[in-house]
Amino acid sequence: MTLLERDREAPSAWKGSLPVTSRYTYGLAGERFFRALKDEGKILASYCPKCDHTYVPAVNFCERCLSELTEWQDAGLVGVLHTYTLLFVDFEGQPLDEPELIGFISFGDGGIIHKLDANPDELEIGMPMKAVLKPQKERSGSILDIRCFQPVNK
Ligand SMILES: [Zn+2]
Repeated sequence: MTLLERDREAPSAWKGSLPVTSRYTYGLAGERFFRALKDEGKILASYCPKCDHTYVPAVNFCERCLSELTEWQDAGLVGVLHTYTLLFVDFEGQPLDEPELIGFISFGDGGIIHKLDANPDELEIGMPMKAVLKPQKERSGSILDIRCFQPVNK
C-alpha cells in the first residue's frame, strides 16, 4: 500500500517507546563554568565592558554586542532572591509528594534557578541567598553540584 492508498480512518499516531539516548555537551563556556563549580566550588561570571553587563552563568560571547568575553570572574556564592514559587507537579505533570520550593537567584545581570532550602514565610524578595554546595568529592560538574540556595542568615 502506498501513502496515497492508506486507510484515512487509521490513527495518525500510536503510543509506544523508542530506546533513544542523547548526549549533550556544555560547550566551551559551559565546560569552564561547570569545571570551576566542580573543582573550585565557584560560580563564574563573565563581563562585557562595552555593555557593562555581567553574565551568570558565564558565557563566551555577549548576547548584546556579540563581543568575545575574556573577563571571567568569581561571582561568589551569595546572590539575591529575585523571585520564588512552590511547585506542586513535576516536569511530567505528576503530583509531587511534597511541594518543592524553587527560586531565581540573581547574580550580576543573570542568575540561577534552583531549589531553595527555606520556609516560604521567611523569604523576602531581595534577600541574600547563599549556594550550598555538595562536598567536592561528590560533585560531578552539573548544576546539581549546588544542593540548594538558602538564606544567608540560616
Ligand atoms: Zn556586550
